[in-house]
Amino acid sequence: MNEAVFDVVIIGGGPGGLSAALVLGRSCRNVVIIDKGTPRNDVTLEAHGLLTRDGIKPQKLRQIARQQLRAYRNVTCFNDEVIQVEKHTKQFIVTTRLGDAFKARRLIVATGMIDELPAIPGFREVYGRSVFPCPYCDGWERKGEPLAVFGNEEKVVNFTKLLYNWSKDLILFTNGAAQFDGKFKQELTDHHIRIVETPVVKLQSNEGKLEKVLTETGQTFFRTGGFLLNTREKQAFDLSEQLDIHINERGGYESDDHGLTNVEGLYVIGDAKNSFVGLAGAAGEGYEAGVVINHELSMEDWE
Ligand SMILES: Cc1cc2nc3c(=O)[nH]c(=O)nc-3n(C[C@H](O)[C@H](O)[C@H](O)COP(=O)(O)OP(=O)(O)OC[C@H]3O[C@@H](n4cnc5c(N)ncnc54)[C@H](O)[C@@H]3O)c2cc1C
Repeated sequence: MNEAVFDVVIIGGGPGGLSAALVLGRSCRNVVIIDKGTPRNDVTLEAHGLLTRDGIKPQKLRQIARQQLRAYRNVTCFNDEVIQVEKHTKQFIVTTRLGDAFKARRLIVATGMIDELPAIPGFREVYGRSVFPCPYCDGWERKGEPLAVFGNEEKVVNFTKLLYNWSKDLILFTNGAAQFDGKFKQELTDHHIRIVETPVVKLQSNEGKLEKVLTETGQTFFRTGGFLLNTREKQAFDLSEQLDIHINERGGYESDDHGLTNVEGLYVIGDAKNSFVGLAGAAGEGYEAGVVINHELSMEDWE
């Protein structure tokens, strides 16, 4: 066990964790950041919508952030996986797969989510390449294209209406009987959006680019891309078995506006808190949690 007590240990080195590390580093805090390097957006080649970095490779973004953190010798990054977190009165003890253990006054969990995806052959090949979860991230590149929408809960109706902003050529694949009201079906058909309820058996693609959606009844639909409503995401690092932390109905860890959970001293930010918050959102939350934590620690140190 490393006997030093760090001000903050951050688990997860995505935009959330790295942003928290930057502001805490600049606040003269001793920080350890531990990342296992398997973010959910690793499947995609380009990330969009982040000011000054539109179209950047997700890995490149992290590389730049880590490089800039090197200027702060009070921040140390480890490539490792946290396997255990314990809370002792005023301290957290974080243990990693490689056998390190770190003590910290505050803990930030920025471990994100992982996606399970529908069990349709060919889905994994197109996910992040031509079929995406978020139109704000990837809608522009597919505007006006013949697109597939995958989803079946009532929420898919509004999701489809939203996607209509980027393309009018939409087919909604519910992959089984639609679980929403007939009046919604009518609304979509009135806008010339076809609803295919027959189960999808395969997605055919070429180097990640969707070409055809094939159904159980042998029908083939030509589509060049699409969007998926529900990625069946779950916590990348499930803390609930180790700490008595509250989970909200969306599977995110419950917290106040700044990321503080019901466990004193434990903050959660980014996708782990919100399911899907985007790069800018995660970075913003990291900054905010960092500022709040530094304020708290400064007041404690004064006493
Ligand atoms: C296909 C796809 C495309 C996307 N495109 C965009 C886009 O264009 N623009 C945009 O703004 N957003 C996009 N997003 C969303 C964006 O990737 C996330 O909202 C954002 O990365 C969340 O940041 P985060 O820091 O919370 O988590 P992440 O970026 O997921 O980082 C979490 C990190 O924690 C690590 N970790 C997990 N468990 C442990 C553990 N036990 N120990 C150590 N480390 C651990 C993970 O390996 C990972 O590196 C996309 C998402 C997907 C799935």
